[in-house]
Amino acid sequence: MKKEELKLVSEQIIELKNKNEHFFIMNGRRKTYHILTYGCQMNEHDSEKIAGMLTSIGYEETYDDKNADLVIFNTCLIRENAELKVFGKLGEVKGLKRNKPDMLVAVCGCMMQKKEIREKLLKSFSFVDIIFGTNTIHELPGLIYNVEINNKKSVDIIDNTELIYENMPKNRKFKFKALVNITYGCNNFCTYCVVPYVRGREKSREPIEIINEVKALAQDGCKEITLLGQNVNSYGSNLENKFTFAQLLYELNKIDGIERIRFMTSHPKDLSDDLIKAIKECDKVCNHVHLPVQAGSNDVLRRMNRKYTKEHYLEIVDKLKTAIPDIAITTDIIVGFPGETEEDFLETIDIVKKVQYDSAFTFLYSLREGTKAAVMDNQIPDEVKHERFNKLLDVLYEIVLNKNEQCIGKVFPVLVESLSKTENTLTGRTEHFRLVHFNGSEDLIGKIVNVKITNVKTFHMEGITVD
Ligand code: SF4
Repeated sequence: MKKEELKLVSEQIIELKNKNEHFFIMNGRRKTYHILTYGCQMNEHDSEKIAGMLTSIGYEETYDDKNADLVIFNTCLIRENAELKVFGKLGEVKGLKRNKPDMLVAVCGCMMQKKEIREKLLKSFSFVDIIFGTNTIHELPGLIYNVEINNKKSVDIIDNTELIYENMPKNRKFKFKALVNITYGCNNFCTYCVVPYVRGREKSREPIEIINEVKALAQDGCKEITLLGQNVNSYGSNLENKFTFAQLLYELNKIDGIERIRFMTSHPKDLSDDLIKAIKECDKVCNHVHLPVQAGSNDVLRRMNRKYTKEHYLEIVDKLKTAIPDIAITTDIIVGFPGETEEDFLETIDIVKKVQYDSAFTFLYSLREGTKAAVMDNQIPDEVKHERFNKLLDVLYEIVLNKNEQCIGKVFPVLVESLSKTENTLTGRTEHFRLVHFNGSEDLIGKIVNVKITNVKTFHMEGITVD
């Protein structure tokens, strides 16, 4: 795999930094940026890299999008909803920019990888100054330079690349937990999904780069890492010197200071016996696997191009539960895929009951232009999708609540993440990814504390700290 080091030392970058320093001296404040992030954890982590680069050229973050000097939309294409939200918000920013013409507006992320959407943006939102894609994040300082110094609109998109840019600066959202990319892109071409088209083919980072990043995080006080990839289980398959995901877990498990290792997402077709063994043997690897099933019917799975059957999936779940009896299994489910019959849907209900998921992300099938599923016959009417969706939630919620109820009276180590939004309590997660609210002082944030569960709801549990 080809690798490039990012060098933020070009003359352009230095000139931009000097310009921003001058702005600071003249105005008594730094130029500010505000990033709106849509979609998945991959995008969240990309936004941390964007923020890191902006800091390195003299910007500082503001939560006030109305007064920011630079507003960046990091977009998502997975669901129609996210796309509509971006266009709605861009409409608002158009008004802001009219009153504040110096404000720079940039749009990046998966939506910008699609030519038709880019063209729509350039035509209908001509006030946007910078457009870049998922493969050109590292170019951002140069793109800003182009607008600020050369007064030119900047568009930089690469459809697919083998290059991986290491050592990009990052402004991590949390000190005690971090997202770490291990692969980029995807080779699986599930028929409903745009990811392989917008993020390119799968490429793995060299193990040494990941290990060094995690060591540096540990030295910086990070306790929990989440390894990110569209399909972490196939990590290493395209490296020159083969290295498996299981091997990577064993290596990361040795790093002092790291207390929890999570990963997502796992593709069932690549979840090997070696990986199950690694999850069992590595004490820092959380006993939690997010294993998207998507559907329970073999016919639907085949048309989704998922490359496993219901029986194969259940076999993996059985192996996981046998090897690691307290494993938590969560999933993604799509309801209303084209051609899904009532019998197919009942197969989904059946697999949900058989696996007894600890939680699930459930989605109504959303047609995405450019995918094979978009042109399949028998698109399911919305009312049928909604009816099935509600039936699925009834079954799922009962299972999840029941699983949570089994936690009452038990004590779990919880990594304290923040103050709870709705009540004056702390909030954190157990190893099994269960959300827990409990009383405690703010100085516990970032620490792992023991919490005894006293009450549970479907989406969270409540408890008290114990020694
Ligand atoms: S595995 Fe399938 S659903 Fe996941 S990113 Fe790849 S193509 Fe999309």
